[in-house]
Amino acid sequence: MSSNIKKKSSSMDPTIERININHPIPILGDEFTNNIPECDAFIGIINDKKNTSIAIKKITNILPGFGHLKRCSEGRLLLAFVKNNKHNNIEQSFDSIEKLKSFLIDENFNLNIFNDNIKIISVPALSPKTKLQAQISSKIWPINFHPDPCIESIMSNKFFNDNQLEIINKCMKICSDIVDVTSVKNLQCHGSAVIVDPNDDSMKLLAVTTSQTDKHPMWHAAMLAIDLVAKIQGGGAWKLHEESSPLDSTSRKRKLQFKLPLCYPGCLKDRLNLTDSLNFYCPKDDTNDDPKDVAYLCTNYWIFLQNEPCPLCAMALLHSRVSMIFYNNTNETLGVLQTKAYLHTLPGLNHRYRVWKNFINA
Ligand SMILES: [Zn+2]
Repeated sequence: MSSNIKKKSSSMDPTIERININHPIPILGDEFTNNIPECDAFIGIINDKKNTSIAIKKITNILPGFGHLKRCSEGRLLLAFVKNNKHNNIEQSFDSIEKLKSFLIDENFNLNIFNDNIKIISVPALSPKTKLQAQISSKIWPINFHPDPCIESIMSNKFFNDNQLEIINKCMKICSDIVDVTSVKNLQCHGSAVIVDPNDDSMKLLAVTTSQTDKHPMWHAAMLAIDLVAKIQGGGAWKLHEESSPLDSTSRKRKLQFKLPLCYPGCLKDRLNLTDSLNFYCPKDDTNDDPKDVAYLCTNYWIFLQNEPCPLCAMALLHSRVSMIFYNNTNETLGVLQTKAYLHTLPGLNHRYRVWKNFINA
């Protein structure tokens, strides 16, 4: 991580603008934030503790499943789900106590180990995804739960270290600083974008853009930023960079030959110089010609946006393979990472990015 940032953090120089460090808010799918739904299940009360282990073994054999639920708790043996529960369709279920009893008798299960008649209670219908969900669910019925360290660090604001947080805050501030200067507003999608390579000590700033939809209907800030990254790698669909002549066949093989970051419109570069404090980027002249050495487009890069992206930008970012999206404001018209949809949580995507929202505007 950049040593410049560490120096700035401890500096007493009053001319250096200090930024209040905020933790970005993770935008997670409902499965991480909602309470676990409940469903009905049949239980039997075991009349003698000595029968517990053999009863568990027998019932697990004839009615397997229930992976997220302990099979027995305080003498109560979990037998089966009540049929028609929308949350369970794998384990065998029954629509009445009589039918369950009949099945158990056919399977030579000794019903005399139970005190009373079989009962129906509520149990967690699904496996928890977080410790908090697990704590709540376990009060209903004991569960099997193994926390995901990555998810827990996100939920507890420990995912990013201090240097990363400072860079995140700076980049989000850049987005808001530049947006009113050059962004062309469009009801569907507008704003600014900053793409950063967080994968080495220099934390390189690669591309800075604002939306220019008056020039081209697809020139949303994120679309332009992706194209500038492609240009850095010798590609790019649009002629955007005023400082560079059209790439010839030789220069196309050379990468990172521009002075970073690339900006569109070009006047943003002057604006960046005014805003501060961008000494965490380190232009690098990498002339390695082997295309195998370059990961596909924005793989593992971070993008910062002034506004929640529209479907066009969100899908382009998905295909570009950025690893993180941070945005300052919701896009009430067409935002698809929280407002209208949670695109990044949908099943069947061939790539996933994590999404974060500015603490201040949460
Ligand atoms: Zn867009």
